[in-house]
Amino acid sequence: MSALEQSDTAVRSNGAAQGQAGRIEVHNPATGEVIGHVDDMTAGQVEALVERARRAQPEWEAIGFDGRGEVMRELRYWVVQNRERVLDVLVKENGKTREDALLAEMFYVCDALGFWAKHARKYLADERIKTHSPLLMGKRVVLRHRPHGVVGVIGPWNYPLTNSFGDCIPALMAGNSVVLKPSEVTPLTNLMLGEAMREIGAPPDALLVATGAGQAGAALIEHVDMVHFTGSTATGRKVAVEAARRLIPVSLELGGKDPMIVLREADVERAANMAVQWSMSNSGQICIAVERVYVEEPVYDEFVQKVVEKTRALRQGPPGTPGGVDVGAMTNAPQVEIVRSHVQDALDKGAEVLVGGKASQGPGQFFEPTVLTGVDHTMKIMTEETFGPTLPIMKVRDADEAVRLANESRYGLNSSVFSKDIAKGEHVARQLHAGNACVNDALMNYLALEAPFGGSRESGLGARHGAPGIRKYCATQTLLITRFGPKKEFGMYPNKAWQAKAFERVMVAMWGRKPKRRK
Ligand code: NAD
Repeated sequence: MSALEQSDTAVRSNGAAQGQAGRIEVHNPATGEVIGHVDDMTAGQVEALVERARRAQPEWEAIGFDGRGEVMRELRYWVVQNRERVLDVLVKENGKTREDALLAEMFYVCDALGFWAKHARKYLADERIKTHSPLLMGKRVVLRHRPHGVVGVIGPWNYPLTNSFGDCIPALMAGNSVVLKPSEVTPLTNLMLGEAMREIGAPPDALLVATGAGQAGAALIEHVDMVHFTGSTATGRKVAVEAARRLIPVSLELGGKDPMIVLREADVERAANMAVQWSMSNSGQICIAVERVYVEEPVYDEFVQKVVEKTRALRQGPPGTPGGVDVGAMTNAPQVEIVRSHVQDALDKGAEVLVGGKASQGPGQFFEPTVLTGVDHTMKIMTEETFGPTLPIMKVRDADEAVRLANESRYGLNSSVFSKDIAKGEHVARQLHAGNACVNDALMNYLALEAPFGGSRESGLGARHGAPGIRKYCATQTLLITRFGPKKEFGMYPNKAWQAKAFERVMVAMWGRKPKRRK
């Protein structure tokens, strides 16, 4: 079945092809050809999907962690069995290499399906809370987590599986039904996953996919009980405003401008390999890509020379069979223009391009892997999210200057420090204003599903992974349970002067002594 037929079938079986919706063309960015069409759903169609999900939620919650875990494992089996078909669509709609689709998306999602199936129960178990208050002696206090109801997940185009479907997994395991609104640029893979849920016989409508552009996402926020958003900081701010208006919980995974710091005693070869890999992979369209590098003076020349050699050796082109190319296409045409403008702005202000620097002439959308030096913080390429295959490198005097420049940013997503002196590397990492920091590594922290991953500053609110990554999909309920109680407790009506006096005496006895201060 062709990708076009697949997408149309998936849309029909999603039950939303009828109505007034317009159609969105989906392109293969590596070739320019049209590979499918999906509905640009109206607000009414999105609302209808949320209603269906709402009706399905009680049954989904009722099957419990074991039942939902079975569905997740069944889905993982489906993904593995259908991997060629899924990878084909993923590569075609995104333009990324097959290796990136396999490792950073399919492998991640299969791992996450098993992880949440196994650990959701533990993270969401009731917590017995021991209280300090003498007034609560003999009473039981319990914190429980229960699903919000219907969760809306809105995703970007750079990782259709990992950053759209991936965020549905803990929401589903918590007992919510989910309506997923993938990016209008890359909706096909997620439609396949929605189709897969039906194929494996999952309870109907526990997961539904709403296709469409920004207005479909906005309509989703109008009706769900909680929203998880991954995308740009600009859109994330709008999502937060709408969620605040409705007073529903929101978690935001937004843009970044991740710094790498290479200290004088670093393993320069490893640092250069990491810098090239994680700035050029997926054409730099990774929220946690290395977007700028600060290198201490003594190793600057060696680092630049290695990065230039390694970048020149990269093979770019339309992704085909495994091992064919290293860097694929740019997924979204407007992004190519942003990358081009950042490079031009840097050149206008005195930077030098050592490798690459240009967009290709079509038919596909490509931007050459690009290395720049002579950059500074007056340039967009050092301060704004470029989201392309660019690596600007800046020379710094010492670690303090590197930290100051790394922190001179409105973002705070990931970061990395390279040093053979581990204590020094960790000391520097701890000074970085970023939600995540790696020492002698980059990006790999994303695979630690037990550890919260989230952005600080304008890179986001909340976290995915770990306990917070599933508890955010739940409301809490604190229970106070009194098993044996007198008919009437001390201090109850009618008010009596002697009781108030007794409370006052207790208070003065406990807290009435002047505290000592340290000299
Ligand atoms: P985007 O903000 O343009 O779009 C993201 C999603 O929001 C799309 O599905 C879009 O249709 C929808 N949308 C647009 N307007 C909306 C509105 N008013 N209300 C609700 N939804 C709306 O982002 P993008 O260009 O698709 O993705 C790239 C961005 O995503 C980059 O900034 C990247 O850093 C970020 N990102 C962050 C992470 C992370 O984990 N922090 C992961 C991947 C991508």
